[in-house]
Amino acid sequence: MASSNGNGHGPAAAPRSGFARTQTAPAESIGAWARQGPSAKAVSTSSILGVSREAMDIFLGRNNITKLPMELWSLHNLTVLSLRNNCLTYIPPEIANLRDLQTLNLAHNKLRYIPSEMLQMKKLTQLNLFPNPFLPKPPPNRDGNYVSRTERIGPKIPPLTELALRVLLSRKETRETMLEQYYELPLATSQDQRPVTAFRDILSICVPGSVLPDESRAGRKQFKVARPVTGVGICPNPMHDDESNFIRPSEERYTWVESTPAMKTKGAESGGLGGHAAVHWRGCMWGCLDFLGIAGEDEDTKKQEKEAEEEGMDLDLQESEEVVQTVRFDTATGWDFDD
Ligand SMILES: [Zn+2]
Repeated sequence: MASSNGNGHGPAAAPRSGFARTQTAPAESIGAWARQGPSAKAVSTSSILGVSREAMDIFLGRNNITKLPMELWSLHNLTVLSLRNNCLTYIPPEIANLRDLQTLNLAHNKLRYIPSEMLQMKKLTQLNLFPNPFLPKPPPNRDGNYVSRTERIGPKIPPLTELALRVLLSRKETRETMLEQYYELPLATSQDQRPVTAFRDILSICVPGSVLPDESRAGRKQFKVARPVTGVGICPNPMHDDESNFIRPSEERYTWVESTPAMKTKGAESGGLGGHAAVHWRGCMWGCLDFLGIAGEDEDTKKQEKEAEEEGMDLDLQESEEVVQTVRFDTATGWDFDD
């Protein structure tokens, strides 16, 4: 078993994750949703092995869990998390907040993809992802990579409300968002504060406690959203100078990977996932995910190439030698290029 990391002095834990200090509290905190299963339990190795009191393991296998509480992602000292044999369809990007996580078991769930943020988890060297009904991979692109087409899920210019939220929830070089820095929280949500009310859910998810809960909607069933807002996203485009955030992404894409950067560097024996896992990427603007490469399934390009070949047109898609060949095709039609 992996021992606790040597430097137990990471960034100070956020105040609201204070319950992480004790071993029993997490079980109680998570109990509300884990209780639906027969044997939910949270176990810490700290008491057993006498390692750092900060280290924490959670085993929640075989519990019919369909949704995970956001509080789970603030347990920064979590090193082992097993969620195998559950009914999870979605892992939010906020899992990357578990910066000390070394072992993660998500086998035997209903996952179609994992968030790209998981590739940034530097200590995650043991990751069990199979079996899961991952999205099937497309044919490889020219570089041998598996990349989907880009799906534009927002307008070219983000709506003003989205832009306002991006500014309000940005935290450039600070721990606090602009919302926390400039406004008295929780925000008022009376009848004459309808703009706030409209964003109540988003604000309370992104900055817990920034808006008081809506009593009038308590108990009402929440309908399922295809792309739930789970927090503030950070665009992975390497061309951004500053951290570029979003609440709702403008585009999304998938890649398929056989290993993660952290697993690759840990030697060959643990370097593979045991198959191709679909990875979900989100961009803040149109074109932000172009850096992932050309889609292997981009049949339009192939079709264009084929048409260009047939018509003998030079669309700069072929190498110069092939262009010469197309000219020869043209001479076969009877035109004389020698004159
Ligand atoms: Zn971007």
